[in-house]
Amino acid sequence: MKTNFQKNQSLVLIVDDEPFIRTQLRLALEREGYQIVEARDGREALIMFQQLHPQIVLMDAIMPDMDGFECCMQLQSLDHGKYTPVLMITGLEDQESVDHAFDVGAVDYVTKPIHWPVLRQRVKRLIQQCQLQQQLEAANQELQKLVTIDGLTQVASRRRFEEYFAQEWQRMAREQLSLSLILCDVDYFKSYNDTYGHRAGDRCLQKVAQAIKDSVKRPADLVARYGGEEFAVILPKTEVQGAMVLAAKICSVVRRLAIPHSNSQVSGYVTISAGVAADIPQPGSDFQDMISAADRALYQAKIEGRDRFLQSTPQLSSNFSLPRWGA
Ligand code: GH3
Ligand code: MG
Ligand code: MG
Repeated sequence: MKTNFQKNQSLVLIVDDEPFIRTQLRLALEREGYQIVEARDGREALIMFQQLHPQIVLMDAIMPDMDGFECCMQLQSLDHGKYTPVLMITGLEDQESVDHAFDVGAVDYVTKPIHWPVLRQRVKRLIQQCQLQQQLEAANQELQKLVTIDGLTQVASRRRFEEYFAQEWQRMAREQLSLSLILCDVDYFKSYNDTYGHRAGDRCLQKVAQAIKDSVKRPADLVARYGGEEFAVILPKTEVQGAMVLAAKICSVVRRLAIPHSNSQVSGYVTISAGVAADIPQPGSDFQDMISAADRALYQAKIEGRDRFLQSTPQLSSNFSLPRWGA
């Protein structure tokens, strides 16, 4: 088996039980510059496919042991399988066989005797299409990442926060379980920027974000950048006591980062304040109310001296909220 392939040359896997057909196909496609590997039956094809990740598979339908239809179907569930075109090359021309081939995932079908100029074009086009599709999917994934991850801090974006919070609100409403929210805001951050510069400010935000992320353990918890120097933590299935413990931990890990802040009026280091809200969502209630509640508690924590966390209570007036960037 050949394994040393040049990167920019497409690899074609030929699957046919007849050596003569395989040789014909090999010679024709090698003339076009493709790298070729051959398998004698479906089982061998699956093994080679997994090891070599060819760009296209030319598959005979009738073969002993495992036929081309079965092999094609199994290929779909392998890594890369969905993305690799399978071209059936077969003597079977009846409607049932053609339908069957497409049903099991083949993307095209040519009949024997092989019409070489047609095969040549089909192979070329299928490989091109497949490459384009992969590029498109990679670009889409990148785009998805850009909208769901905050570029500076690599925690979830505000947009992801909104989506996830609405989703978990619904889920907790259905299950009648408590949802908690912590809003955190870096203390005296404007003066941090003024003292150390904006780039140092950015690095500080990165460290704070990472520290918050490291404090949060459950897979369903989400840390997001809510605004400029504000972070939000969504805690599904969490009661207020649990959220308060986590808020305490977050305040403490940020303090322990010991990032010098000579103009902080709290201490000589960067600190954060946090507001905590928790509730069992009721059907029809507005999740914005919980955000406002956490916001009010955060505001109160600021008033009471910063570097602390507070739980939202009905007594906290709803007449004020923090000014914020990008909200
Ligand atoms: P408080 O203790 O009341 O929260 O005071 P503060 O100075 O932190 O609050 P304020 O809202 O007045 O200032 C927030 C600052 O955060 C101002 C803004 O320039 C800065 N900021 C927002 N986003 C970024 C960012 O991405 N990078 C940097 N370096 N600074 C940012
Ligand atoms: Mg602040
Ligand atoms: Mg702020």
